[in-house]
Amino acid sequence: MNKKLPPRTVERLSKYRRLLDRYKESEEAHIHSHKLAAMLNLTPEQVRRDLMLIGLNGNHRKGYNIKALIGLIGNTIDRREGHNVAIVGIGNLGRAVLGFIKKSNTKMNVIAAFDIDKNKINTQIAGVPCYDLEKAQHLINEEKIRIAILTVPPEAAVYTANLLLRAGIRGILNFTSVHLDVPQDIYLKDYDIITSLEAIGFFLMD
Ligand code: ATP
Repeated sequence: MNKKLPPRTVERLSKYRRLLDRYKESEEAHIHSHKLAAMLNLTPEQVRRDLMLIGLNGNHRKGYNIKALIGLIGNTIDRREGHNVAIVGIGNLGRAVLGFIKKSNTKMNVIAAFDIDKNKINTQIAGVPCYDLEKAQHLINEEKIRIAILTVPPEAAVYTANLLLRAGIRGILNFTSVHLDVPQDIYLKDYDIITSLEAIGFFLMD
């Protein structure tokens, strides 16, 4: 695994792959950097630089072989055995996020949901078992879960995040809109739907 890749490059590699996935059954076996760039609103130089970082030089005439490129991106950004992921707070947002992930063909395996609602504990949601939050410490350790998706209500965010970190979680995708103060070695990504939407609304105000 190449941990030296810039985070933005890793994100773009993920986007290239998802786009290429849609092209892999098409007539064309190859794709040029300018085509990839145009579809993602990037410059061809940016695409070539990213792909050079993972050791790929495109053929000037033919471009990049699509299947080889998908494979190489996978070898670079995926963990071979995938990642075990937990989702915490399986309300409306949690269920939607879980359903969306399950439908994709990512190697991120959501294998457990945690909640405090007795009506949800011991049920399955999108094929994923929901456990009592009290079991999180044990299961996270047992199943080597290192990544958590946080979809609890804002008032529960700090408490659950701390509990997850104590249990061994190293990366959090935080949907709660609450700022989480995490140690430097924890990879935290905030995804704030309302702020994004309101920002769009502000710029469209007449
Ligand atoms: P629902 O009606 O199914 O509960 P909701 O979207 O209205 O959905 P929220 O109040 O936003 O639910 O809560 C999201 C989820 O987080 C719920 O399933 C709730 O039971 C759960 N939850 C609340 N507090 C905690 C907590 N401290 N730890 C774990 N899960 C929690």
